[in-house]
Amino acid sequence: MHSAEPLTRCDALKAWKDFLPGVPAYSHRRNHVQEGHGNVSRLGAGIRFRTLTEDEVIKDTLNEYKFEAAEKWLQEVCWRRYWKGWLEMRPQLWVQWRRRVRLLRQTLPAEILERADAVSASSSGVACMDRIASELVDTGYLHNHARMWWASFWIHVELLPWELGADFFFRHLLDADPASNTLSWRWVAGLQTAGKSYLVRRSNIEKYAPDYLSGDGAGSERLADGVVTARVMERFDVLDKEPLAAYPTSFAQTTERTGLWLHADDLLPEIGPLAGLAPTSIASCLSDSVYRREYRLGERRIESLHTVIGDGLSRAAAHYGCPSVLVEADNPVEGLVAWARDNKLEKVVAFAPFVGPTRDILARLNEGLESAGIRMTLIRRSSDETAFSFASAGFFPFWQKMSRHLILRTQS
Ligand SMILES: Cc1cc2nc3c(=O)[nH]c(=O)nc-3n(C[C@H](O)[C@H](O)[C@H](O)COP(=O)(O)OP(=O)(O)OC[C@H]3O[C@@H](n4cnc5c(N)ncnc54)[C@H](O)[C@@H]3O)c2cc1C
Repeated sequence: MHSAEPLTRCDALKAWKDFLPGVPAYSHRRNHVQEGHGNVSRLGAGIRFRTLTEDEVIKDTLNEYKFEAAEKWLQEVCWRRYWKGWLEMRPQLWVQWRRRVRLLRQTLPAEILERADAVSASSSGVACMDRIASELVDTGYLHNHARMWWASFWIHVELLPWELGADFFFRHLLDADPASNTLSWRWVAGLQTAGKSYLVRRSNIEKYAPDYLSGDGAGSERLADGVVTARVMERFDVLDKEPLAAYPTSFAQTTERTGLWLHADDLLPEIGPLAGLAPTSIASCLSDSVYRREYRLGERRIESLHTVIGDGLSRAAAHYGCPSVLVEADNPVEGLVAWARDNKLEKVVAFAPFVGPTRDILARLNEGLESAGIRMTLIRRSSDETAFSFASAGFFPFWQKMSRHLILRTQS
């Protein structure tokens, strides 16, 4: 599949090497939406699936630049981990969002669903917003500013439910991330930070994306400054926080027959705590029928999952010197349990999945393996453990702790 998004490790490393010299200019160039998006990294998909890790990006950055010269860049790279850590402590939000998407599609009046479909199909009548929706479906990528404007348009101008807009993004973004996507949409809606919602303004689009407004300016009066006001959302809830689930951050190989389960939340087992594993078999699971039926993912998005998983499996097979298999099953749990049984495994090791689709099958997978007499061990990277432990409240307290941690690490 051709994609401008670097998906495989080889492409992500190349894209990162090409972008590194641009890091000092990132802070003043990043907000501008330009043709080809050369002023931002487009590393989102690589980092989301961990064909390239945040740790590698941070280390290369700090080897090359002083912290102060690269702070804005480092801060953005850490946002994803902040969102992930925040959601790890409030997993009920993900479950509620998925439930609401299903419910809204079944119960909303037909005219609202038709309007939601028209806005997603680039037929809102507001030309610059329709251009953004087309770009998303055609390429699987949107600049951060375009994501903010379009989400705001959906919620505060079209008055459509944020959950369905977030679902549209989740179905098409190649870097679709349960935490960054759900929580960014909540932030635009005014549900994430008390008293703050994000309002799209025409003057802001004129300043940062003049190309979006040049030519066909149809409908842009609906975005004029002062015209868009915050939609009153449901009551702002301060959510109960769960303690961060505890996982070991290292693994010692035993004499047991061990299999490595590789999944889309971390496709770089050869670097980090699982590098020294001695598996007899490696497996990953893809379920196109679940992606189509349950998540209604776009075809480009499904293809991108095949690309990243295929890349992860072949790198892992080369690193560990053992066979790797792609399990393609309607029921991922049954497929993975059959793989573990067929390979007479005694133990399955994996990175602990983050809140999202892979975590959703974890309890059932654990049960299936247990009933076959196979144990599962989940490992978390120590850098995730540190970052997540800082993510209990707002981003700025998080960044204070995280930046101090990064500075101390460069000094040691
Ligand atoms: C409504 C909405 C939905 C979003 N949905 C997603 C999503 O599903 N997946 C996703 O990865 N990001 C999401 N983002 C965050 C952000 O827009 C993207 O991470 C970023 O635009 C990716 O493009 P890039 O790699 O060129 O970014 P760059 O500007 O080059 O940033 C470098 C890296 O930093 C991280 N990053 C930067 N900004 C953010 C941010 N605000 N939040 C989290 N991480 C960030 C990403 O890993 C990114 O690749 C969303 C933002 C909004 C407003």
